[in-house]
Amino acid sequence: MSTRKAIIGGNWKMNTNRSGAVALARGVAAESGSCADSVDIVLFPPFPYLSDVAQAVESTSGIGVGAQDFYTEPDGAFTGEVSLAMLKDCGCTWALVGHSERRHVLGESDVLINAKLHAALEAGLNVILCVGETLDQREAGQTDAINFAQLSYGLAGVSAEQMSRIVIAYEPVWAIGTGRTATPDDAQNAHAAIRQSLAHKYGQTIAETVRIQYGGSMKPGNASELLSQPDIDGGLIGGAALKAESFAGIITAAAG
Ligand code: PEP
Repeated sequence: MSTRKAIIGGNWKMNTNRSGAVALARGVAAESGSCADSVDIVLFPPFPYLSDVAQAVESTSGIGVGAQDFYTEPDGAFTGEVSLAMLKDCGCTWALVGHSERRHVLGESDVLINAKLHAALEAGLNVILCVGETLDQREAGQTDAINFAQLSYGLAGVSAEQMSRIVIAYEPVWAIGTGRTATPDDAQNAHAAIRQSLAHKYGQTIAETVRIQYGGSMKPGNASELLSQPDIDGGLIGGAALKAESFAGIITAAAG
């Protein structure tokens, strides 16, 4: 593990109900609050439970709340959409952008992802920008090329100064929710290449400060090995974030 502070995100996706969300948030605060000095923890509940979750963790410093999605416009006739100001009202300080389910299931383009990233930064939020290759792309040897392209589009127009509010999540699509995990070596190689690409764009000093999370079936049993890689600075967790105990196991591994 490097000197960069570890960051563990829990992406709850479209899971839980109100009482389950509050219980899970309280469980995370109880089991992992003591790690907050060494690990940044961010919870991404579904929209309707954001305020409840923010309230449940507000007295535990070091646990933030984030939005899984949002719209770029500040207000207006955009039926069904949610603005960044509304999310801030609910206690959000973070936002996810470019998650593979938004890219591949909901059809978000690189252009929209870049617009969302700028909108979130302008609204004062911190952003986790997700990148990662599909299985076909991996098998075609395109992992780094896909990551570089998604980074290049996603970070277009982003200044070196703004990079202090951006975390990159490397999430190979074939590993998300599948139980298949990248080997620590493969994940490290992808992370090192991502850092190199950041160095190319922003210089080595900035690249060394940017945190790069791994996401894709991370669990308590494989977290230590992944998190001990020099360029892996945390994790973005789906399935294992839905139970306070398994999420705590990953946070403990990140705390070292
Ligand atoms: C994710 O949704 O970002 C994710 C990594 O999910 P899982 O941990 O379930 O693979």
